[in-house]
Amino acid sequence: MKILVTHEIPDAGIKLLGSKGYEVVIGNAFDKKELIAELAKDRYDAVLCDLNDKIDAEIFDAAGKQCKIFANYAVGYDNMDLKAAAERGIVITNTPGVLTDTVAEHTFALILAIAHRMAEGDRFMRAGKYHGWEPMMLLGTDVSKKTLGIIGLGRIGSRVAHHAVRGFNMKVMYYDPKRNEQFEKEFGAEFGPAVEDVLRASDFVSIHVPLLPATRHLINAERLAMMKKNAYLINTSRGPIIDEAALVAALRAGTIRGAALDVFENEPAMAPGLAELENAIVTPHIASATEGTRQAMSELAAQNIIEALEGRVPPNVVKG
Ligand code: NAD
Repeated sequence: MKILVTHEIPDAGIKLLGSKGYEVVIGNAFDKKELIAELAKDRYDAVLCDLNDKIDAEIFDAAGKQCKIFANYAVGYDNMDLKAAAERGIVITNTPGVLTDTVAEHTFALILAIAHRMAEGDRFMRAGKYHGWEPMMLLGTDVSKKTLGIIGLGRIGSRVAHHAVRGFNMKVMYYDPKRNEQFEKEFGAEFGPAVEDVLRASDFVSIHVPLLPATRHLINAERLAMMKKNAYLINTSRGPIIDEAALVAALRAGTIRGAALDVFENEPAMAPGLAELENAIVTPHIASATEGTRQAMSELAAQNIIEALEGRVPPNVVKG
């Protein structure tokens, strides 16, 4: 069996594939043309890809009939054409669960950092502007006892809600097409029947939905205007869920107080003006980037490949 890994990843999964006697080829950040050329040149039984790879019908056709599975090294799979995969009988898998704690931690780090103006304070210190303690300097916002709005109460959203309630005595309001009454009881959380209800009531709004046609620009100018003037928006899901130009305008105009983003609409670019805004914190899509989690993702992606190549149903099959 021959496996193509499209980018270098931590070695746990590579070792696992090697232990099965599979030949593993590690690519060097292919663009689409290069990926098609590599797949057409050689015979691969499986591909381990990631969110940089836009996997569509052309890619599947280049991979050919012997290629059984494309295992995505991510929980999100908006980079994969699931319909084209299904039409060709190709299995698609993702890596859910193993990154939940890490992404929830990063989300909470962003909430605390934007509320306590940490990046601003860091820039202030390094610029030599600190000349002594002042009562009115860099005043931020308390997080404890505030209302956290969660849009998308899945694995990551509910973990962030857990930290908010248990760690910071926050009130949680959420919107998800699937209501979770058990969660509401356990965490004293309130279900906002519509996304607008959550936006209007929250001091912090954190987005945890998958990128789907229905969630693209879920947060637009109109919805930003519904948020409290002193509210913060946090996004560790996928960039296109927010209309980033509208967000820049809202941050400039003071429609909301601040934003903390790990993902961007047109990565790796940021919307014009975002980088200049003091009331925004930006991290380069690193919410799952800890050594332990990236090794676990590597292992899970490899496990999915092994299951498929040994004729079993992999644990993390995704369907459209
Ligand atoms: P999940 O499937 O467990 O949760 C997603 C939730 O969103 C589900 O409860 C679903 O019902 C809900 N949902 C779907 N459509 C919705 C809508 N229109 N409005 C509100 N809720 C809606 O997924 P997860 O493991 O919690 O991951 C969530 C997303 O986070 C992933 O899809 C991925 O794109 C993103 N993510 C980003 C990073 C990063 O590095 N920044 C890391 C991991 C995951």
